[in-house]
Amino acid sequence: MSEKEKYDFALIGAGIMSATLATFLKLAKPNAKIVIFERLSDVSMESSDAWNNAGTGHAALCELNYMPDSKDGSLPDPSKAIAINEQFQQSRAFWAYCVEQGILQAPETFIRTVPHMSFVVGEKDTDYLKRRHAVLKEQPLFAGMEFSTKATQISDWAPLIMQGREEREVAATWIQQGTDVDYGELTRQLISWLKSKKVIVETGVEVKKLFQYSSGAWQIFLGTSSPRIIVADRVFVGAGGWALKLLQSAKLPEIRGYGTFPVSGHFLRTDNPELVAKHNAKVYSQAPVGAPPMSVPHLDKRVVNGKESLLFGPFAGINPKFLKHGSFLDLPLSVKLHNLLPYISVAVENFGLLKYLIKEISKSRKKKIEQLQQFVPTAQAEDWVYYEAGQRAQIIKPKGRKGTLQFGTEVISSADGTITGLLGASPGASVSVAVMLEVANKTLGDFFVSKILDLVPGLDGNLNADPKVAQEHLRRTAKALKLSA
Ligand SMILES: Cc1cc2nc3c(=O)[nH]c(=O)nc-3n(C[C@H](O)[C@H](O)[C@H](O)COP(=O)(O)OP(=O)(O)OC[C@H]3O[C@@H](n4cnc5c(N)ncnc54)[C@H](O)[C@@H]3O)c2cc1C
Repeated sequence: MSEKEKYDFALIGAGIMSATLATFLKLAKPNAKIVIFERLSDVSMESSDAWNNAGTGHAALCELNYMPDSKDGSLPDPSKAIAINEQFQQSRAFWAYCVEQGILQAPETFIRTVPHMSFVVGEKDTDYLKRRHAVLKEQPLFAGMEFSTKATQISDWAPLIMQGREEREVAATWIQQGTDVDYGELTRQLISWLKSKKVIVETGVEVKKLFQYSSGAWQIFLGTSSPRIIVADRVFVGAGGWALKLLQSAKLPEIRGYGTFPVSGHFLRTDNPELVAKHNAKVYSQAPVGAPPMSVPHLDKRVVNGKESLLFGPFAGINPKFLKHGSFLDLPLSVKLHNLLPYISVAVENFGLLKYLIKEISKSRKKKIEQLQQFVPTAQAEDWVYYEAGQRAQIIKPKGRKGTLQFGTEVISSADGTITGLLGASPGASVSVAVMLEVANKTLGDFFVSKILDLVPGLDGNLNADPKVAQEHLRRTAKALKLSA
């Protein structure tokens, strides 16, 4: 085998996760030989593409599912919301550093301030939102969050959700600090910098199979018009929904029992300038009873390629593909003897969820517009276009002989640390930096991670504990990323 076909690192998939990890690698080990393989014709065409996700910088500023109500009406526990916010701050710190170093271009090409709001209707949810606000406004990373039950105030924050609304008992929180992020553009810019640093990026090349030599290195089988095999010392499987099948092909004992539960996302979108001008927020509400957490309805201002639009959704659906551009055989071919029981038990125990998803796909356009009108009472069908976004591959995790459905992200790593992969889709691209630090830790160890932490100010998390540190971090990263603090 020629020297050209041997690499220190091979990354499978060119989405935000691989782009982030490869940037860490290049910063900490400038001479490393790195290759990225992408099966589609260009990078960032699956979940990381701007229109395949909602572009929310998830920092738990508005997503109620990150801070569920207490059982007894006491103050709800903010720990998960704080943890997610701290992870998002790690992303802000890294992106700010990349802008300062010229790795990323002008920040407004990929991130904007768009205030985040939570909006609820009725006495019970108003009471919960009030208690949630009472807890969060005391937390340094959530400083400046406002709460109101006044229609006039909520109308000032988000006129479209109040115009023509009949319910009187409404409540909302609003915080300036929220963001809209174009993760597709972010990925493309990182990859363009990586190419300038001699990282090889091969598009239109699908990794078919992985095999480990006794030396520990990996043989990577590539399916192109003329199939090839390359060798890499370490592999990262950032293949989105297809990570499961690649980790299965690598015969990792650590993947035994795991499965994937695919849920597709769809949105309604409008580019009507009159409507777009009236809404400058991301407004999240409560998920309907029985709906999965990622079905929380939200109305978002989006900025993609400098053009503003509004997005409403998501509408969930079910099909057996693990990627938007995947195959209908993805689900059936992922079922093995070791994950059969987990698959069956998840199907039985989540029958309500399956019913909900089937009901969702059979909803007519009229019903979808009615759902939008619950959020935007004056919405007109002709202004809105329905489209398919990305596919979320939720994790089925082995638990005893059965399985449980998880809505988070999980890093799977071989015992020798030579291969690592990522399963799951939530909270997603927002926390790509924190998740890739975990991957780096598992595959490259503490020394590598401390090198990155030394390089990038504010990357070590744990910001909420000290109000001064939190305030300084928000101020500094806002300046670098041209955001409102
Ligand atoms: C509907 C929806 C809404 C979302 N909203 C948000 C949001 O508002 N905020 C947020 O932070 N996150 C959100 N997410 C999640 C976020 O989009 C993902 O977590 C993130 O983009 C995943 O990045 P990735 O790099 O892991 O995967 P991807 O972007 O999917 O990239 C994986 C890449 O691997 C390639 N690939 C797969 N198999 C192979 C192979 N065998 N060989 C070569 N290449 C391969 C694929 O073609 C793809 O390009 C949302 C997701 C969905 C679906």
